[in-house]
Amino acid sequence: MLLVENLSVNYGAIQALKSVNFEIFQGEIVSLVGSNGAGKTTFLRTLSGLVKAKSGKIFFSKSNISNIESHEIVKLGISQSPEGRMVFPDMTVKENLFMGAFCTKNSSQEIQKDIDKMIDWFPRLGERMNQKSILLSGGEQQMLAIARALMARPKLLLLDEPSLGIAPLVVQQIFKIISELNRGGMTILLAEQNARLALKISHRAYVLELGTVIKKGEAQSLLHDDDVQRAYLGG
Ligand code: ATP
Repeated sequence: MLLVENLSVNYGAIQALKSVNFEIFQGEIVSLVGSNGAGKTTFLRTLSGLVKAKSGKIFFSKSNISNIESHEIVKLGISQSPEGRMVFPDMTVKENLFMGAFCTKNSSQEIQKDIDKMIDWFPRLGERMNQKSILLSGGEQQMLAIARALMARPKLLLLDEPSLGIAPLVVQQIFKIISELNRGGMTILLAEQNARLALKISHRAYVLELGTVIKKGEAQSLLHDDDVQRAYLGG
């Protein structure tokens, strides 16, 4: 579904990604693990067209999307839930969800149907539809950010650090929903510092260190890999 070849991204003199090769097949959850500053966010933002690559190619469903604007990328079927949630704080939950559907040009009836689907996935959002998003807890805002990304009806969902700053119990709930979304057919690329959580729900994973892929493979075997255990799983 997505093929990335030799992707390099610089911020001035900083090389954030160095010739990264990556692929994800339809129906997979693939995680991208690595510590702070490894380049995970940069990778996701480059796929979304928010950061321009220095070199390399990105193919989505066999089309080259390397130089396409971000709103076009959403229309093609890639949408992202950003790091730090970035919900629109003064808008209600419902308005945030409408914003997620902005690029789809769906009728308001279709959008309402999609909102009903989001309430099935995230019942907590249903209870808070008319509240301003700033009033939601961190975990609820994370749910809203994921639901907002789903409102674009993506084929590939990019999730950036969905566990960040959220209470462990709520993280478990969110990860359960991510697994269920995948079982329902959604292809998911998950960037996560919490390698254990990410590997547990993924089919495959890539380990990123200082902008370079240092390991890749089946998530289950990476969970038992000595180097990964030492560096990312606490020994
Ligand atoms: P984190 O989880 O902390 O966000 P990350 O793995 O997502 O880490 P990135 O945010 O992609 O990593 O950062 C990769 C490198 O690029 C880091 O060295 C970071 O300091 C640098 N970087 C990221 N964004 C910018 C920017 N806008 N301008 C300059 N340097 C940047």
